[in-house]
Amino acid sequence: MSLKLSGIAKAYGAHEAKVIALDRIDLAVEQGEFLCIWGASGSGKSTLLNILGLLDVADSGEYLLSGTDVAKLSERQRTKLRSEKIGFIFQGFNLIPVLSAVENVMFPLQVQGRSDKHARARALEFLDMVGLSAERDRRPDKMSGGQRQRVAIARALVTEPEMVLADEPTASLDSATSANILDLMRRLNRERKTTFIFSTHDSDLLSYASRNVSIRDGRIVDWQQHAPPQRAVVSTISALEPVA
Ligand code: ADP
Ligand code: MG
Repeated sequence: MSLKLSGIAKAYGAHEAKVIALDRIDLAVEQGEFLCIWGASGSGKSTLLNILGLLDVADSGEYLLSGTDVAKLSERQRTKLRSEKIGFIFQGFNLIPVLSAVENVMFPLQVQGRSDKHARARALEFLDMVGLSAERDRRPDKMSGGQRQRVAIARALVTEPEMVLADEPTASLDSATSANILDLMRRLNRERKTTFIFSTHDSDLLSYASRNVSIRDGRIVDWQQHAPPQRAVVSTISALEPVA
């Protein structure tokens, strides 16, 4: 799934209380990229990902998703597109606390109207992929942060979306667990050619992406066109391979 944003703007509130969250964002992402959106707290990352994921709409500008102008879609078409083509991984995991790991992963398939039998089989396959087969019947509150995030990844991927959006997916995890989560996402990106877009405020995660853009006060700086604001960042994927 490719996307192209031109002049995307979004503000919250009105008059003196008005906050410009996104200020005329231009961004193009190709199918299969592993893009990092890096920025401080309050820079507009969540607002941008919510718009990319069709959870929110921009005030102005154009958003083409695989060539389709999303503003021209009906609410129903947007919902369908979101459910079939896009997976979300949220900062707070957003798992359903009363459901076990496998039930959480089954959920998006059930929303799509798949049978419980089909959903369970697929969910177990994806839990296995993230290394959590043994925890299938555990509830989120009985799991570690890293395990919860892996459940959230399995849930985001189980519908085999063309694009996965991850809003600060490692924000509440320690650095070793964060590295594992990023490695897992990167592997899935390579194997399945799924487009991944993740946001972070942590500069340690920049080395995982095939491309980094930074966001500051709702403005995007694309490092392909501008020098990175700090540290030397290598721009070829092969050079970014984390050392095993
Ligand atoms: P980030 O995810 O990078 O922390 P956000 O997209 O959440 O940034 O926020 C961007 C700006 O918009 C911030 O100044 C934030 O305070 C403001 N903002 C975000 N959501 C709302 C909201 N629902 N109402 C008012 N202001 C908001
Ligand atoms: Mg945020």
